[in-house]
Amino acid sequence: MEVRRVVPSGYCQGVVSAIRKVQETVEKYPDKKVYVLGMIVHNRFIVEAFRQLNVITLDDSDKTREELLDSIEDGVVVFTAHGISDQIKQKALARGLTVVDAACKYVLKNLSLIREYLNDGYSIIYIGKKKHPESEAALSISEDIHLVTSLSDTEKLNITNSRIMVTNQTTMSVYDVSEYIEAIRMKYPQAVILEEICDATKQRQNAVMNVTDADTLIIVGDPNSNNTAQLTRLGRKNGIRRVIQIETAAELEGMEFAPEERIAVTSGASTPRYLTDNVIEYLKTQDPTYLKTDISRIL
Ligand code: SF4
Repeated sequence: MEVRRVVPSGYCQGVVSAIRKVQETVEKYPDKKVYVLGMIVHNRFIVEAFRQLNVITLDDSDKTREELLDSIEDGVVVFTAHGISDQIKQKALARGLTVVDAACKYVLKNLSLIREYLNDGYSIIYIGKKKHPESEAALSISEDIHLVTSLSDTEKLNITNSRIMVTNQTTMSVYDVSEYIEAIRMKYPQAVILEEICDATKQRQNAVMNVTDADTLIIVGDPNSNNTAQLTRLGRKNGIRRVIQIETAAELEGMEFAPEERIAVTSGASTPRYLTDNVIEYLKTQDPTYLKTDISRIL
């Protein structure tokens, strides 16, 4: 069996920085409760590793971020890498909470572009995922932001403003975004197109599209991670015979691989390297030690 890591893969700069911010917050406020509003990055093992440091993650898909914020009485609240609305940030400050914003610089840049264009009288078309925290942060800025989640959404757009700007969630598939942009351009030829997929996402997606010599592609990542899901979709689109998305090496137990099989392993931008290393080492050695996840090695 031939096993290799796809390069680049795994942690991006935004994830590293968000994790560091939570670690620094824990050190800086040893006597305060530290809350994270949502998953700091989309990986449940990172959330669990922080739980062991007494960091409380408030994450409930039935509740809005504002409702989650309302459940905090005092302490420090960390906003995640995906960005947060100004209203929620202001509310946290007004309630006397200490605020730490771990939003990625690419997300912040996109949010500020949206504000600039709105101020200049543009309507915004935003290509993203419904209910994803990053798209929620963007949509909270104004009612004149129109979410597009599919090609059929582009057909339903009915914007009368002649000034239109198009942008997108930073972790979308480059192929989906270009397809949707083409459809939008046909409808609104005058639209200003700002394609805002972040560099880390593009590089990881290109690396998967360049995998031409593997029988199997394994993607390691959390089911909630959009950029991980996009890597899996691209692997399938790329025609790789077998594409498997897993969270940890434990899911490999019992799977069969042929002795001559060529396996490429990649991982989402929020997947700890330790989890991917376990997958690679297990495939190479079949040593069951690598099937176990030691939370103390996640951060
Ligand atoms: S995937 Fe891109 S936008 Fe998201 S945290 Fe990483 S660098 Fe930032």
